[in-house]
Amino acid sequence: MADLAFFFFLLAAIAIGWLLGRRSIRKKADCSDKQQALARSYAQGLNYLLSERPDDAIDKFIDSLEVSSATFDTHLALGNLLRKRGEHDQAIRVHQNLLARPSLPRVSQQKAQLELARDYIAAGWLDRAERLLQELVETSSELRNTSLEHLVEVYRDEREWAKAIHAVNLLHGRRFKRLSSEWAPIQAHFCCELAEEAINGKDYLSARKHIDAALGYHRNSVRANLLWGRLEYLLNRPQEAIRVLQRIPRQSPDYIPETLDLLITCYSEVGDEKGLDKYLETLLREHPSNSVLIALTERIHQRQSEAAAAAFMGKQLALRPSLRGLGHFLDLHIDSTQGRARENLSLLKTLIDQLIASRPHYRCSNCGFSGNQLHWLCPSCKHWDSVRSVKGVEGE
Ligand SMILES: [Zn+2]
Repeated sequence: MADLAFFFFLLAAIAIGWLLGRRSIRKKADCSDKQQALARSYAQGLNYLLSERPDDAIDKFIDSLEVSSATFDTHLALGNLLRKRGEHDQAIRVHQNLLARPSLPRVSQQKAQLELARDYIAAGWLDRAERLLQELVETSSELRNTSLEHLVEVYRDEREWAKAIHAVNLLHGRRFKRLSSEWAPIQAHFCCELAEEAINGKDYLSARKHIDAALGYHRNSVRANLLWGRLEYLLNRPQEAIRVLQRIPRQSPDYIPETLDLLITCYSEVGDEKGLDKYLETLLREHPSNSVLIALTERIHQRQSEAAAAAFMGKQLALRPSLRGLGHFLDLHIDSTQGRARENLSLLKTLIDQLIASRPHYRCSNCGFSGNQLHWLCPSCKHWDSVRSVKGVEGE
C-alpha cells in the first residue's frame, strides 16, 4: 500500500514536472537543445517508473524537474518520502540538489538544509547533521527551535550529554530548571548519564553535582534516586542510601525490583535485619511483585527453615501464580525429596528455567521492543522511561 502511494506520488511529481517543463518550453519560441533534453528526461523517468525501476526514475526526476519556487515543495516532499522509506542516499541527493541552487529564496534553502540534516540523522551521519543544524540555529529564527530539538537528538545519539543539556536549555530560553513537563524528565536523564560516568570514574563530587542537577529538573526522577542511593552506599553511608531508595516505590513502583539488591546489602551493613523484613513485607502488601516475593522467601529460608519458606511461597503462589515463583518453589522442595520424585522435580525445574530464560524481562510500552536489560532510553524507538519490567505470570 505504501509502495503504491509512493509510485503514485512519483508519477504525479514527474507529471507536474513534465507539464511545467512543457509550459516553459512553449513560452519560449526558441526550443533549445537543453529543453528537448529535459523533455526526454521526463519521458525516460516515466518509463523507468512504469517498468518498476524507481531508483532510475528518481535520477531522471532530479535531472529533469527544474528547481524553482513552483516546484520546490514537490522536490522537498519527494526527498522526505524517500527518507521515510529508508532510502537515505536518494533523499540526500534530492535535498542536496535543492541546496545547490543559490537562486532559491533563503527561506527555501534553509528548509532544504533542515531536511538534509534529518536525512543525515536517519542515515547515522551525525557529525554532518550537527554542522547543518548548528548553522540553522544561528541563522534561522523560524527553524531555530526545530533545529535545536534535532541537535538534542544528535547529541543524545553521540552521547555528548553536556552539549545535549546546553541545547535543551537554549531551547527553553536559558531559564534553567523551568522546563516543560515533556523536557524536564529528559534533561534529568542527561544529567544522570553524566552522574553515571562520574560514578564509574570514582569522581563522587561531580556525581553528586549531576544528581542534584537531575533532581532540580525532575524531582521524582527514579533514575536520579537510584544513582543517589548508589552514591551514598559507595560513600559508606548505607543508612542514607536506604532512606533514598525507599522513596522509589512512591515515585514509580515499576522500579522496585531495581532497588532490592542494594537495599538488602545496605540493611545488612547497618545490621537492621528486622527492618528489612518489615520493609519487604510492606512492599509485598502494597506493591506485590515476584522480585519482592522471592527476596522475602529467601529471608524466611535463611532465618527460619526451608519448610517455612516453601509454605510461605506456596501460599503466595496460590494468590499470584507466576513462573519465577514456581521455579523458586520447586528449588525449595528438591533438596528435601529423593529418588524418582527428586528427578521429576529437577526436570520440571529445568523446563521452567528454560521457559523463563526464553521470555524477556523488560518490554517497551511504546514500540514493543523487549530484552533482558533495563534501558532508560529504548534502543528501538528512542523513548525515555518506556522500557519497564514485564508483568503477569511470565514476569514480575
Ligand atoms: Zn521502544
